[in-house]
Amino acid sequence: MTEIIDGNAVAEDVRAEVGDAVDELDEEGVTPTLATVLMSDDPASETYVSMKQNDCEEVGIDTVDVELDSDAPAEELYDTIDELNADDDVNGILVQMPVPDHVDDRRVLRSIDPEKDVDGLHPENIGRLVAGDARYKPCTPHGIQRLLAAADVETEGKDAVVVGRSRLVGKPMANLFIQYGEGGNATTTVCHSRTEDLAEKTRSADILVAAAGVPEMIDGSMVGEGAVVVDVGINQVDADNEKGYELVGDVDFESAKEKAAAITPVPGGVGPMTRAMLLYNTVNAAALQSGVESAL
Ligand code: NDP
Repeated sequence: MTEIIDGNAVAEDVRAEVGDAVDELDEEGVTPTLATVLMSDDPASETYVSMKQNDCEEVGIDTVDVELDSDAPAEELYDTIDELNADDDVNGILVQMPVPDHVDDRRVLRSIDPEKDVDGLHPENIGRLVAGDARYKPCTPHGIQRLLAAADVETEGKDAVVVGRSRLVGKPMANLFIQYGEGGNATTTVCHSRTEDLAEKTRSADILVAAAGVPEMIDGSMVGEGAVVVDVGINQVDADNEKGYELVGDVDFESAKEKAAAITPVPGGVGPMTRAMLLYNTVNAAALQSGVESAL
C-alpha cells in the first residue's frame, strides 16, 4: 500500500506548535507581526496573500497589509520595504512574488532586512543556509523536510533527486538534503531543463522531489520502485468543470503511486506546509528581534 503523505495534517501540527510559541512570546509582551506586500493584480497572488494573513490570524500573529498599484513606480516598493525594515513593530516582511516586470526582484530580495526575511531568500540567509548555519530556512524546502520527518522517511545515506534548480525551491532543497544532521546527509542530484536522460536520474532516486512547474511531467515510468515522491508543483490546467481549470502537480499521481512507497498529493501535500513554515519563521523572527528565546 502506498502511503499518501497528508500535508494538511502535518501543517496542522506545525500550526499548533507555532500557536504555543506565540503564547509564550505573548507572556513576554511580544506579539509577532508579519507585513505582507502585494504589488500585483494577479488573482492567484491576491489569494495567496489573503491565505497567509488568515493563517497568521489563526495562530495569533498580527499582520500589516500593504498593497501597491501594479503600475506604481518601482521606487514605491523599495521605499515601502525601507519603511517596514525601520518599523520595530514589524518582525517579518513578505513581498509576494512575482513582482511586475519593471521592478528588480533581486533588489527587492536584497533590500529586506535579513532578520525580517522570513521567506529566507535574502543572499545573507541563503549564504547562511549553504554554510550550515541557517537563520530562516526557505518555507517550501523546510516544509518538505518536516513532511518527510513526519512520515518517518530517513534521508541519511539515501539518494535524493531534486528536479528544478530555482532559488525558491530546487537550490535550497538540495542544500538542505546535503546538510549534516537530521533531514540531511542524503546524496543529492539536482536536475533541470538541460539535464540529459532525466528519467534515468529520477528512477535512481530513493527520494524524488519534483519542482519543475511542468504539469504531470513525472510519470510512473520515471519513478523507482519504493521511492518517496514529493510533488511541489502547482499548475493550473484546463478542465471540464465549473471553474474551467484544475490544479495539478508536476507528478502524474496515479501512475507514480503504483511505484512509490509514499507520495504527496496536490493539493494537500507540500502547499499547506509552505504556509505553515512561514508562520514558524515569523515567530522565530519575533523571538530573535526581541531577544526572547523561541520555543520553536
Ligand atoms: P521555476 O520556474 O523558478 O523553476 C523551475 C525549475 O524546473 C527550473 O530550474 C527549470 O530548469 C526546471 N525545469 C523546467 N522544466 C523542466 C523539465 N522539462 N525538465 C527538467 N527540469 C525542468 O519554478 P519554482 O521552483 O518557483 O516552482 C516550481 C513549481 O513548484 C511550480 O509549479 C510552482 O507553482 C510550484 N511551487 C509550489 C509551492 C508549494 O508550496 N507547493 C511553492 C513554490 C512553488 P532551468 O533552471 O534549466 O530553467
